[in-house]
Amino acid sequence: MIRDRLERPVRDLRLSVTDRCDLRCSYCMPHATYEWLRREEILSFEEIVRLTASFVRLGVEKVRLTGGEPLVRSDIERLVAKLRELDGLRELALTTNATRLASKATTLRDAGLDRINVSLDTLDAETFRRITRRDGLDSVLAGLDAAREAGFRPIKVNMVVERGVNDHEILPMLDYCGERGFALRFIEFMDVGNANAWREEKVVGAREILETARTRYAVESTGRDEASDTATRFRLTPLDGGASVDVGIIASVTQPFCTHCSRVRVTAEGRVVTCLFSSTGTDLKAVLRSGATDDELDDALRAIWRVRDDRYSEERLAEIRDETYDPKRRAKIEMIRLGG
Ligand code: SAM
Ligand code: SF4
Ligand code: SF4
Repeated sequence: MIRDRLERPVRDLRLSVTDRCDLRCSYCMPHATYEWLRREEILSFEEIVRLTASFVRLGVEKVRLTGGEPLVRSDIERLVAKLRELDGLRELALTTNATRLASKATTLRDAGLDRINVSLDTLDAETFRRITRRDGLDSVLAGLDAAREAGFRPIKVNMVVERGVNDHEILPMLDYCGERGFALRFIEFMDVGNANAWREEKVVGAREILETARTRYAVESTGRDEASDTATRFRLTPLDGGASVDVGIIASVTQPFCTHCSRVRVTAEGRVVTCLFSSTGTDLKAVLRSGATDDELDDALRAIWRVRDDRYSEERLAEIRDETYDPKRRAKIEMIRLGG
């Protein structure tokens, strides 16, 4: 099995299938200055499948389709079906903003998609507009219901918690997810990219999220399923009765988890990126389009992984504690291009 410099295997692949999106979330993209990739720059489905097969040979077991918004890429179901045929792939998942999920949930399920995560930061239409700079809350809620009807289990809701924006919605989101049987993942606001005006004061940390939850829920810690998981898990049960909620907190700012990070990312234009906070990646599209054999492709990926020593979030926490952290010191790839 291949390992990086810190002895971490490669297990999870996040595949960005497009940088296009129908929303403009303030924490994800530089709205005014962003330049979209051109169509010919983007990997074809055949190239994506070939690259994924190579990663699976190196040890990847889980693949997550992301973006940009993966459901704006036409015919995404065809890619799902092709990836599902790969031997050795244990799980195929998708992260979506769900604006288009209502009409696609059943075909995605039929194509072989195993799991779905829906990003939803608020239940209030005005706050939704403020965060995403678009309308669309109703279509997202309809998308979530359609995913449940299509049989996806579990359905996870991802909520990025940003102080002064939606931190007052921690309890309403718990109630909403509890009533519908959705799992809820609270995500600490991160300084990915360069343009989201991240400040430490805007981060609502895991401890504070749990404190808020405890005002109305009993909190039982259930740990991490696997060491490389991003979320620490909890079972939250309403103090006044009712169904419990499976909660995860992705505390990459206040409780980083680089030590066991086995995630690799591929951008829509075929750059392999070994950390969410990388400034650059390695262009594999050139290798794919140069007629390389499968062995040559595997060797190229091995060479990238073997020299990986990323642990950005751990370094950031040390610097935050020393009061030396400057989020702008390193130019980072924008989240909309990198995939979450
Ligand atoms: N468009 C899809 C969506 O929104 O679900 C997939 C791509 S999006 C980049 C993937 C995830 O990254 C979303 O759950 C989003 O909330 C999260 N994300 C984006 N910017 C973030 C930030 N600054 N801090 C924390 N999470 C962020
Ligand atoms: Fe689009 Fe997702 Fe980024 Fe929002 S978080 S702008 S939905 S890619
Ligand atoms: Fe992995 Fe980089 Fe995130 Fe650390 S900061 S968990 S190395 S992606």
